[in-house]
Amino acid sequence: MRNRIALCCLLFAGVLAASASAQSQAQPGPITAIKAGRLIDPDSGTVSTNQVILVQGEKISAVGPNLAIPTGATVIDLSRLTVLPGLVDAHTHMALTYKEQPENNYYYLTVVMDSTALRAIQAASNGIQLLNAGFTVIRDVGNNGLYADTALRQAIEQGWLPGPTVIPSGIIIGSTGGQLWPTPEMYKQHNIVYPEYLDANSPDEIVRAIRENMLFGARTIKLCIDCKPWGYSVEDIKLAINEAAKGGCKVEGHVQTPEGAQRAIDAGIYIIAHGNALTPEHHRQMGEKGIFLTGTDTPFTRYRGTDAAFKQVVAKLRDAWEKKVPLTFSTDFDYWNDRMKDEKTGEWLSRGDLTIAFIETWKAAGIPPADILRAMTITGYKAADIIKERGPIKQGMYADLIAVAGDPLTDIDALRNVQFVMKNGMVFKKDGAMTAEKFFHPGPVRIPSGRWTR
Ligand SMILES: [Zn+2]
Repeated sequence: MRNRIALCCLLFAGVLAASASAQSQAQPGPITAIKAGRLIDPDSGTVSTNQVILVQGEKISAVGPNLAIPTGATVIDLSRLTVLPGLVDAHTHMALTYKEQPENNYYYLTVVMDSTALRAIQAASNGIQLLNAGFTVIRDVGNNGLYADTALRQAIEQGWLPGPTVIPSGIIIGSTGGQLWPTPEMYKQHNIVYPEYLDANSPDEIVRAIRENMLFGARTIKLCIDCKPWGYSVEDIKLAINEAAKGGCKVEGHVQTPEGAQRAIDAGIYIIAHGNALTPEHHRQMGEKGIFLTGTDTPFTRYRGTDAAFKQVVAKLRDAWEKKVPLTFSTDFDYWNDRMKDEKTGEWLSRGDLTIAFIETWKAAGIPPADILRAMTITGYKAADIIKERGPIKQGMYADLIAVAGDPLTDIDALRNVQFVMKNGMVFKKDGAMTAEKFFHPGPVRIPSGRWTR
């Protein structure tokens, strides 16, 4: 007992020392002055010209026209560019890349063949590729092995590597089997496709699963509402929302049936994932209640999708926009194939290029650029539940901002060519160049023998 008290004292002293050093880190650092030729406020869809943004340490200390630049400040001249908040992918999967080789695009097999350790390294690479494309925030909602997502968040927050702010869900919670249909051997022995899903079949198990995820670093909770015919009831979902709130988390519901969508709406869920099962009536209710949609609106490209599926996705997105659903930009990007190359140059597209390509769906839906930009920024920050500290370019917020040539308010494709990225007040990309860019790929592009091997 005595030893235990001594150990507690030691631990407590350690915590105190850690918090003291955190305070010293919080001291404002050197000043950077950014000259912004054009500065977009995506919330209002307006532009101000010739602005100066002062950044001290990690945060914005002042914004305005003709601000005096303090002596000794580092000046970054973006006077020929358009500056805007960093972009948000509100539904993606950093530590999952299912492939044609070796798993025939079947993520049961990804789970079996790729360790969490390998997936965590993929996640780190994907995070860097997304940051390079201007995404400074991602919601990473499951299918990340045994918590590669929360490890990625921690690693970026701790400063091990550059990457977006990650809002991870931990393991997806579902009733028996999650999204998969495991065999009796897989299910009963719980050692093959697990930990991809956390089984929670009763109120007690739902509470336990949520607490477990939050214990391991989740910042949002993801529920499979109707992945099985029995699914979760309105009461189950309300219980989950209530429990998640205790740890500061909002709940996203994966829905794939109209009935499941209705239960999620009735329970007052924060976010509904995937637009496929939603009807105009669901959109109307979501617009009225302010329920966010992470529609994961896949474009039809050379390397993915079909024209018929695309037309359906476009029509649903259009209807959701008309019904004023709070729309986020979201991709569900978690796959790779060897057709993912630039048609003209033959070079690999990065995970960032492949992510930003989702604006094609939004353009096809005839959504005005200002509304697309709002979905990609302000609404994304709200859905990620970090709008109080990140997003708007104003005093007191983290300095997460990007710059592009041209005007995304009239030509959304301007976002495809991000020239400058600042995250937490640090410059990650300048004059269009991240020097390590060529090292990163959206999949295992180097297979020396030509055949997959561990
Ligand atoms: Zn997903």
